[in-house]
Amino acid sequence: MLVSASHEPGAQHPPAMAQLPMSDVAEAPVRIASIGLASWDHFLAVDHFPVVGAYQKVVAERSVPGGQGANTAVALARLGAVVRVASLVGEDDEGARVRQALTAEGVDTTWLGTRSGEATDRSTIVVSTDPPDRTIFWHRGAELQRGDQLDVAAIFNHDVVILGVADAALRRFLVDLPAHTAPRARLLGPMTFLLEDSFHDGFEIALRHDVIVGSERELLALSGTWTLADAVTAIQTRMPGSNLRGCVVTRGAAGCRVVTREERWQLPAFPVTAVDPTGAGDAFAAGVAYGLARRWEWPRIAQFANAMGALATRALGAQAALPGLDEVNHLIASAGDRPGVDANEPRHE
Ligand code: ADP
Repeated sequence: MLVSASHEPGAQHPPAMAQLPMSDVAEAPVRIASIGLASWDHFLAVDHFPVVGAYQKVVAERSVPGGQGANTAVALARLGAVVRVASLVGEDDEGARVRQALTAEGVDTTWLGTRSGEATDRSTIVVSTDPPDRTIFWHRGAELQRGDQLDVAAIFNHDVVILGVADAALRRFLVDLPAHTAPRARLLGPMTFLLEDSFHDGFEIALRHDVIVGSERELLALSGTWTLADAVTAIQTRMPGSNLRGCVVTRGAAGCRVVTREERWQLPAFPVTAVDPTGAGDAFAAGVAYGLARRWEWPRIAQFANAMGALATRALGAQAALPGLDEVNHLIASAGDRPGVDANEPRHE
């Protein structure tokens, strides 16, 4: 089983997962709304990330649909979820292709609008083998903003709403609504855009989601701390009295950290041959959303999300390797009784 104790003070083993049912056959599909960016991604794969001023040979190149909101929606659709994306594309070829690709994946695009006079949001992503990471150059384009027409009642009539909204005013507006309009809908907040300058109160906004998910780097920036242990303490201290009941921190090949009001655990990653980490965080967030919608316990949610993230790294591009439900369950089952000690966990955090 995939469990290790964190070395943080107070860290615990999660409850046993081995007996948990792994099949969702015969269960009704979960319903999830993903509000966020739908973009066009241009990938450049290089062996080494160049130093400033150098040149570097491109070994592979690919242009494909992407964007955090769309990636998460596609990941969920492949799991069999009923998923609607609320987003905007520009009035250009890329926008048309993003829309077409989402529809082909079975994502409901009723709420995917077109902003006339604007370009579709785009990213140029350099994926390097050494170091094994990706660097994103963001060409900000059409995106939802405060004042855009949104069917708020219908959005919050989902099991989970993923709020990957980059516009600070719209995010502030949406984050307080479910408590009043749809207390059953769970609000999942990716941390990414909360770090933008416009979110001068990003940490406070984070506390108004039910669950937040993001990388260790993002949590440190959001909480203004230097170590994961301090960041976890900062967030856990503020959980009582706020909406926030869970914070899931992605850690690349080191797995993930789960923080609830009472507990904190570390789960090691599943072993995969990673080609491109782009979109692993979006796949991971989709796994968290899926588990929240199924009302699973935290250990099962984190294990499922870890498997989603690992499988997503197998090919160049954020959506290329997104798995189906059987593949995720197979990975979890096949890794079933691995020893639970993560020897790579740094002791000094
Ligand atoms: P982000 O894309 O937001 O930077 P991470 O790179 O931390 O997110 O990856 C998200 C999750 O995907 C990780 O927490 C882990 O579960 C999984 N993952 C990412 N990279 C690997 C890897 N090399 N091996 C196994 N799992 C991975």
